[in-house]
Amino acid sequence: MRNRRPVRTPIALLTLVLALLFSGYGCSCAFAVKIDQLTGLKLTPPDPARQCWADEALKTHPGEELVRKGIPAAYRPPPERQLSPRPSKSEDNVKVIRRVDLPPGVKLVALTFDLCEQPYEIAGYQGAIVDFLRDQKIRATFFAGGKWMLSHLDRAQQLMTDPLFEVANHTWEHRNLRIITGKKLNDEIQNAERAYEEVRSNLGNSCSMPELGEALKQRVPEHMSLFRFPFGACNPESLRAVADAGLTPVQWDVSSGDPTPAKPEVYVRQVVDNTKPGSIILFHANGRGHATVALSAIARELKARGYEFATVTDLLNVEGAKPVLTDTCFDSKLGDTNRYDTLSRQLEVAFERFSKEQIGKRGVGKGPTR
Ligand SMILES: [Zn+2]
Repeated sequence: MRNRRPVRTPIALLTLVLALLFSGYGCSCAFAVKIDQLTGLKLTPPDPARQCWADEALKTHPGEELVRKGIPAAYRPPPERQLSPRPSKSEDNVKVIRRVDLPPGVKLVALTFDLCEQPYEIAGYQGAIVDFLRDQKIRATFFAGGKWMLSHLDRAQQLMTDPLFEVANHTWEHRNLRIITGKKLNDEIQNAERAYEEVRSNLGNSCSMPELGEALKQRVPEHMSLFRFPFGACNPESLRAVADAGLTPVQWDVSSGDPTPAKPEVYVRQVVDNTKPGSIILFHANGRGHATVALSAIARELKARGYEFATVTDLLNVEGAKPVLTDTCFDSKLGDTNRYDTLSRQLEVAFERFSKEQIGKRGVGKGPTR
């Protein structure tokens, strides 16, 4: 018929959809992804983390997995900053999460990686683990020391801003919280929070486009919510201090045993045979994790058994999930981490000496020399 309006071309329709998408009707990003797939056009808003760090900057660099001990740069005073306000936990009897009971049929597990750094060392960053997790799109939780975050600023920022990962509190410099008390105890917990806020506030500073900082910050919670005790050691005073800092203590029900060198199949059996739905699995990624060689086999076997990977927060957020709580901390059975207390007391003496030496050399508050 002559008077009919010309048929709209698919391009015109697409233009209309795009105009709606970006005209204040709200960006339906899932929809934009679908359009990307249908059309081959790139309409998804660019990932600010990928804009900040090129592939090469994200990938592991040779040597950064190594732990460097006793070097002057290992001493670092905590950041002097006011912590943002946060609610403290109100429970009288603070308990520890070991794993999470999930509704029948939900087969999620949480891989967790500790990034511990002690006072006299700069610990490593096992980027091969992170590269693998990214490659396989495996979600994971990193319990990071505050000093570790500052001595690995870019890595801490990359982990924080990666939607696959969450970053949680593993104290300032890995003191045994069962043998320190009062201000020292609170400082260990809160200085890690200060470090996290410092790292978060510096987002964008190392990007070629510093203006990406705001977009990056939007992805990162203002403060951490989970906490893990060094040496698997806690007592009622330290549990109370963690709760007062607004944090939830999380240990594990499956330890990979990765600080001890072993054949890959030893780690595979240790992890896979002991994992059940809702398990929280302990690894290290600070240069002391020897299970890297087994990680792909562990992930493959768990997947073959129907498991999917979640962060600890994901586990806790499953509808009907119930955290499995204990009154105190241990590795696999009650009292089995007590043996670290004697070692920790000796370390305390060494740590104090190292800190005093470094402060004496450079003067208080001058920060690390590099
Ligand atoms: Zn640790």
